[in-house]
Amino acid sequence: MSLAPADVTAVFLAGGKGTRLGLGDLPKPMVDMHGLPLLQRMVEGLAAQGVRRFIILAGHGAAHIEAHFAAHAPAGAAVEIVIEDAPLGTAGSFTQLREHLDRPFLVVYGDVLFDADIARFLAYAGEKGGAGTLYVHPNDHPEDSDLVDAAEDGRVRAFISKPHQNPDCGNLVNAAFYLFDPVVLDYLPARAEGVIDWGADVLPGIAARGEHALYAYRGSEYLKDIGTPKRIERGRNDFAAGTVAARSYLKPQRAIFLDRDGVLNREIDGVFRPEMLELIPGTGAALARVNKSGLLAIGVTNQPAIAKGFMSFEDLRAVHNRLDWALAEDGGGYLDDLLYCPHHPETGFEGERPELKIACECRKPAPGMLLAAAARHNIDLSASWMIGDHARDIEAGLAAGLECWMVGGGSHPEARSAATAAAAIETILQEQGLSS
Ligand SMILES: [Zn+2]
Repeated sequence: MSLAPADVTAVFLAGGKGTRLGLGDLPKPMVDMHGLPLLQRMVEGLAAQGVRRFIILAGHGAAHIEAHFAAHAPAGAAVEIVIEDAPLGTAGSFTQLREHLDRPFLVVYGDVLFDADIARFLAYAGEKGGAGTLYVHPNDHPEDSDLVDAAEDGRVRAFISKPHQNPDCGNLVNAAFYLFDPVVLDYLPARAEGVIDWGADVLPGIAARGEHALYAYRGSEYLKDIGTPKRIERGRNDFAAGTVAARSYLKPQRAIFLDRDGVLNREIDGVFRPEMLELIPGTGAALARVNKSGLLAIGVTNQPAIAKGFMSFEDLRAVHNRLDWALAEDGGGYLDDLLYCPHHPETGFEGERPELKIACECRKPAPGMLLAAAARHNIDLSASWMIGDHARDIEAGLAAGLECWMVGGGSHPEARSAATAAAAIETILQEQGLSS
């Protein structure tokens, strides 16, 4: 099913008190964001992308919100204010909205500052279907975060709450920005008694039951809550500096692409299990500098061991989960995305998977993975980089128009050289004036 901004209702949860932000009687979403209330900026941002129908769930200070939007609704959009009977939590309050929601709806927390390419998010959600799609971020401290365990096809398998010890999942966290089909309302009681939250109470049950699928949409756009004085200060600074808008996939992004084996982790003859993965020290810290710079960090790796039958997709997922954790442990870095080619062109291996024994367009030196990542994250390849340790990495990078770096001792006539990925990253960031 295709899904576009005009097809959805955006529901803002705007019942929070602003006392912690020193707002007195004003509700939290009415906090000033560079001259306008945050809520108005967020509503206008969605309206500018084609969302036409808004519901604002208000509680504390609802009169302020009603008065404001009576005078400041975006042109061509309908803004309806619904007043919560009592604070029922982020999901509980939707028991009041059943008759308002007969089509897919976005859930937006009123204390979140964001700028995101909504059409891109909705296109993914529409293609996946199911009960809904959650926006998830890779993060740099999985050890003390609530995590979302997603399968290779994006389907959410479980929600893993802290405290946890080395769960078999990656580093994805729930950004609390959802697209739901109205079927999720069937998972709520007829009337909420007490507080019910989407993240804590409802979504884990949907994932565990498995009747309706939930999907994770992985993105690195700006979506941060401003619920404390420190966070609102950071949000205002980021907004004023243009950082919030710059991270949106509506704007072209720049990326550093990295091969995996020999660049992020030590090259051995096949990393088939998580415990075989050994990170090259300093790589996580170097990626942390990329993460802070505003450039994307994207892994692109040939994994023909899958086609050859040496490992399964699930084995590879376990290895990549381990890689996420290793990068976090080694200085708090993360990959914004990691693409792999499971194919291999030559037949003749015992136990091989014939359907993957093809001449594909993703196996480096072909540039297919780079092009796919560029489409997914709106990357300007002509302003991006490739770091590899093999001629095929460099050839893929050159075919995609990237500036290329060879690391690990090799050389290539059309690539610059550095000892390690960390050293190449340091030079790239310095030359771009992004080194902090
Ligand atoms: Zn391939």
